Amino acid sequence: MKTRRKPDWLKMQLPKNDDYVYMNNLVSKHGLHTICSSGKCPNIGECWGNKTATFMILGNICTRACKFCNVATGKPLPVDKNEPIKLARSIKIMGLKHAVITSVDRDDLEDKGASFWAEAINTVKKENPNTSLEVLIPDFDAKAELIQKVIDAKPEVISHNMETSRRLTPDVRSRAKYDLSLKVLKQIADAGIVAKSGIMLGLGETREEILEVMDDLLAVGVKVMTIGQYLQPTTKHLPVLEYVTPEQFKEYEKIGLEKGFSFVESTPLVRSSYHAEKHINALKIKKDA
Ligand code: SF4
Repeated sequence: MKTRRKPDWLKMQLPKNDDYVYMNNLVSKHGLHTICSSGKCPNIGECWGNKTATFMILGNICTRACKFCNVATGKPLPVDKNEPIKLARSIKIMGLKHAVITSVDRDDLEDKGASFWAEAINTVKKENPNTSLEVLIPDFDAKAELIQKVIDAKPEVISHNMETSRRLTPDVRSRAKYDLSLKVLKQIADAGIVAKSGIMLGLGETREEILEVMDDLLAVGVKVMTIGQYLQPTTKHLPVLEYVTPEQFKEYEKIGLEKGFSFVESTPLVRSSYHAEKHINALKIKKDA
């Protein structure tokens, strides 16, 4: 059944567990910045309890203006050369087992931020040799030499989100193209690194279109898929056309696993970094023939 009123299953509970409280105190005491807290992510209690958190690099102003995203658009500030070491130290202070790094799009930079990405990964690894890493990267306009810089830094997982179906991509994403995103993911998978991608539901996509995204991702070697509910950040963003039920999300998870993904995280409150610590094992999971 389709409904546009925010349903009960999207009401968020404040986390109360001891691990969360401990981490939250650390973050406040040291003035650390995570997307988990600044984005008021509903999964924060569980993720921080699992010693996983997400950080954004390359500033907080994006050169693109996707119609689902609440990050500010404009002319970004110059790159902070100390950001990689600050990030590495934040991860160390929090004692993270797994960290997720993402960034704004930096189409203003000559290499779109690819070298900075590589430096950030290398610095985090050097300072935190026991922390695994997932990097959620922009498309770098699908330029192979730029994506290769990130691959060469060898994070355990590289993700790049499709965000929505092929048909809806021009309405939802700015500049990014559906086939170029598939090309990015293929290069990652071909390099032998866990490739991961995600979509949001509730933007008007059909069931067939969701299954098409699954097939397209599998065809390029993606092993992990996340599926969550789109929530309209402000009235200037695209409206929610449907609140998909938890049962429908569960069904997509089942279909995705049957089709061949190693992991499908599919619930209304899933964000692309939810359960990220599990996904480093995606290449080890063999499907029955
Ligand atoms: S889902 Fe991502 S952003 Fe949300 S708490 Fe977990 S790691 Fe942080």
